[in-house]
Amino acid sequence: MKQRITILGSTGSIGTSTLDVLARHPDRYEVFALSAATQVDLMLAQCAQFRPRYAVMASGPHACQLAEKLQQNNLDTQVLQAPDALEAIASHEQVDAVMAAIVGAAGLAPCLAAARAGKRLLLANKEALVVGGEVFMAAVQSGGATLLPIDSEHSAIFQSLPEDPATWGQRVEHVLLTASGGPFRTRDPASLRDVTVAEACAHPNFSMGRKISIDSATMMNKALEVIEAHWLFNLAPEHIKVVIHPQQIIHSMVQFRDASIIAQLGTPDMRVPIACGLAWPERVESGAAPLDFTQLAALTFEEADARRFPGLHLSWQVLAAAPGTTAVLNAANEVAVEAFLQRRIRFDQIHALNVATLEAVQPSKPDTLQALLALDAQTRAVAQELVRCFN
Ligand code: NAD
Ligand code: MG
Repeated sequence: MKQRITILGSTGSIGTSTLDVLARHPDRYEVFALSAATQVDLMLAQCAQFRPRYAVMASGPHACQLAEKLQQNNLDTQVLQAPDALEAIASHEQVDAVMAAIVGAAGLAPCLAAARAGKRLLLANKEALVVGGEVFMAAVQSGGATLLPIDSEHSAIFQSLPEDPATWGQRVEHVLLTASGGPFRTRDPASLRDVTVAEACAHPNFSMGRKISIDSATMMNKALEVIEAHWLFNLAPEHIKVVIHPQQIIHSMVQFRDASIIAQLGTPDMRVPIACGLAWPERVESGAAPLDFTQLAALTFEEADARRFPGLHLSWQVLAAAPGTTAVLNAANEVAVEAFLQRRIRFDQIHALNVATLEAVQPSKPDTLQALLALDAQTRAVAQELVRCFN
């Protein structure tokens, strides 16, 4: 029996890589539903190739455009409109697995719907877990969902940990998340105020969406990943460490009590963790080139410089603060990244805005989706106001 897959965010970097892996295995997988924000033509092409039952667009006008074009091309995919339709395609009874590849807190509600419906949930959308934390993991538990990390570091840790989570507490000393250091690893920190959008989007090893590209440049991506690791693997914050590894060959590691370290290695290609999540515990071809050790010049490591990457340390601070503070940090950072992309604030002001927003918003323990979304909206309003003050 083929696995039926929903992809939330199918037109993005992770979404298209997922379709690339699925296309290699038509005998194992079929696409049940796709979703996108605004990219009508790419969605049309994906519908023509994968023939999903449903395609969801984020707005009415985009949904209408897509429906018209599908009809002109004699394609019978049914078009629906977000946000309600995202939850419907994530939890539909005929769906086996959901790839969560929307960027930002916008992906939280459909992730929760998939978790509650007991799906195999492939999580790329780290912001959903950073915002939802406890509520998210409780939904996975109560729905009997299988949560598989797609973020390459967390996939590496997942593959390196013993299979039985009940043994992790006694065996694991800490996990080591590797970080590329992004495009500014060696740039003079004093010049970070002059960084342009094009410079910040130019990641050394990956072509990714704009939000995660900026997060990689500030290292807020790693800060979000520390929080993600805390929830995924039930790790105390002091047992999560970060080391810079510019070649991105080691995707992360687990250090055990006896000082033995298990790492997962490979070429930096997101199709590897995607294929791993899709097929786990089996293994299928991903399309990625295997590592050629004879061609590797060196694997190097260095400590993250707090002056260059001040945002990284916010992760441990917000994990130690009141419940809900991780959601505040995420919303602040989403607003800050967008404001930088719109050239309304400087690159170095992303961190300043995050800190100022954290000081301005005191969360009261949000324990439902509605409370989380309200806190997210409240924080965005505060951060937007601060953006205006920064100018
Ligand atoms: P992207 O910007 O390339 O794609 C985002 C997708 O989500 C697109 O299909 C877009 O149409 C859709 N989308 C955006 N906003 C939406 C909204 N409000 N409602 C509905 N749909 C919306 O992003 P990406 O690089 O593919 O990243 C997706 C997620 O995966 C992010 O959370 C990112 O942190 C994570 N991730 C990405 C990579 C990578 O290599 N790109 C690696 C690890 C984790
Ligand atoms: Mg990552």
